[in-house]
Amino acid sequence: MRYLDGEMTEAERTGFEKHLEDCDQCRRALEEMRALRCLTGSVAMKDPTDRFWEDYWKSVYRRIERKTAWIMIVIGAVMLLVYEMSRFVRFFGEITVEKTAAVILGVGFALLLVSVIRERAHQYKTDRYKDIQR
Ligand SMILES: [Zn+2]
Repeated sequence: MRYLDGEMTEAERTGFEKHLEDCDQCRRALEEMRALRCLTGSVAMKDPTDRFWEDYWKSVYRRIERKTAWIMIVIGAVMLLVYEMSRFVRFFGEITVEKTAAVILGVGFALLLVSVIRERAHQYKTDRYKDIQR
């Protein structure tokens, strides 16, 4: 194990390698150890720095992606709302019960939409820990 870990001194290593040249048993044992280390090493010890940066960039990218998506949704919704409102004001004309009911209905749906969006935004905020540790 010390040989595989690189913990032997120069003299120890040359001595050990010389011994390996004419000892089948030690050579085989070394190969087995090396294979075993390879196997457990790849499972347990993926380079922690690599993983950190991998997660970091994944989370940053995801956050930017989400933020952009929300900004676009909000801009689109506001533009649509302004357009519909200006059209609505132009063609409103005489006030009737039907039109008043339609306005109330529209405001109700708008409030519902805002509430859902706010809820989602809040959920996303509290979900941030999942981005960091995954
Ligand atoms: Zn030996």
